[in-house]
Amino acid sequence: MWDLDEFARAAEITTEALATYVAESRKGVGPVLRRSPPDELSERLRLRRWISEGGMTPESYREFLEGFLDESTRMHHPFYMGHQIASPDFPAALAEFVHGIVNNPVAVYEMGAPGATVEFEVLRWMLDKAGFHSGSGVLTHGGSLANLTALLAARAHAVPDAWTEGVPRDLVLLVPPSAHYSVARAAGIMGLGARAVVPVGVDPLGRIDVGALPATLAALRAEGRRPLALVASAGATATGLHDDLRGLAGICRAEGVWLHVDAAHGASALLTEGYRYLLDGIDQADSIIWDAHKMLRTSALSAAVLVRREGDLSRAFQQEASYLFYGDQGHDLLGRAVECTKAEMGLKIFLNLAWRGERGLGDYVAARYATAHRFWELAMKRPDFVCPYEPESNIVCFRYAPGGRDIDHAALREDLLRDGTAQLTSVELAGVRHLRLVVMTPATDDHTLETLLDTVAEAAAARSANPSGTP
Ligand SMILES: *Cc1c(COP(=O)(O)O)cnc(C)c1O
Repeated sequence: MWDLDEFARAAEITTEALATYVAESRKGVGPVLRRSPPDELSERLRLRRWISEGGMTPESYREFLEGFLDESTRMHHPFYMGHQIASPDFPAALAEFVHGIVNNPVAVYEMGAPGATVEFEVLRWMLDKAGFHSGSGVLTHGGSLANLTALLAARAHAVPDAWTEGVPRDLVLLVPPSAHYSVARAAGIMGLGARAVVPVGVDPLGRIDVGALPATLAALRAEGRRPLALVASAGATATGLHDDLRGLAGICRAEGVWLHVDAAHGASALLTEGYRYLLDGIDQADSIIWDAHKMLRTSALSAAVLVRREGDLSRAFQQEASYLFYGDQGHDLLGRAVECTKAEMGLKIFLNLAWRGERGLGDYVAARYATAHRFWELAMKRPDFVCPYEPESNIVCFRYAPGGRDIDHAALREDLLRDGTAQLTSVELAGVRHLRLVVMTPATDDHTLETLLDTVAEAAAARSANPSGTP
């Protein structure tokens, strides 16, 4: 049984500790991340003792939580700029807390009518933003699962009996090399085989070469192969650059090819005035995915898969389960999703929307995109920084090459991570390793950006003086 006083006390401790954590993180107190080895961490947090003995109290929980937060990667820190994971807003966090106690999974309506209804309304809003006015959708546990779900819908569209008969050998999935790895993984899971994943021509920055597409399609058809879908990126993971959706949609429509737009990262720009043009033509896609746990400031996980024609999603799954698929008032989501138990993910998106407004979320996105552009401007003013392209979103790639020297950028990144100064990622573009910056938190400002440029230069100088990197 719950001791409700104990619960209230523990919740109060949690709120206090988290408020301090966010306040300090925002000010840049402490390292962005520690990456302590698991053995050390386990000992510091006394994990084995707690597992074997139990008996935690509000006071010992406070001590545990403070250690846990101290060792965590700080998403509210100005120098957190490595990954696309949200720096979450608190309304979404409240939704997690409520879900943690109410625990109404939403796929079966009778298990959670309010959570399911919130999901329906959030999906209606997302469909409207995408211009899918007679579409349908579902929230999934992440973008990777959303990509799989969308591609299953595409498969059902191309080969309606694939569910019962298995996958024909002639199907191909057209995927640019710049696509997120979850697309190729979905092809593997769907039993298409890696041989079915056919690359399409791209420009040097990985954007699909629209002009070359008709010839690629004709060549495949001449070989007796059937295009199942083309996957385009609206915000490619590595670069944040966008494919020409309108151009691709025109060709796909004319050729009868399903267009899937992976807008996991970029769809949130639909909420902005200034960057919506990047998604021009998205309403002509057959399916899209949109991660809320990237640019809509929810914690992981919360993602949407949206289809332009209602019915395309439920046709993806052609199954009966007698213990669940009965007594449905027409509101169950089981028929549209891979998942059976499904969290109240819509509540996180809803509370962020309800608190900040669509406008507030749009302003958040626009401001991060502008900050990334500002970084590019500042880097271009310095002689030794090289950026292969002008950023379109909040993702920027760059190199530091003092006097044209070739610096090991993977090692340089390690140097920055080792002392927790800044969390950057790195990617290979046209075979050359770059540092990659993703602006996620409002705490990242011009001062942060200038400091980062100095820090990269200093780390590179230290590395030249001591290439092994050992202190
Ligand atoms: C992040 C991302 C994904 C994967 O989404 P998860 O939610 O991490 O599973 C897929 N595609 C693109 C373009 C992404 O940026």
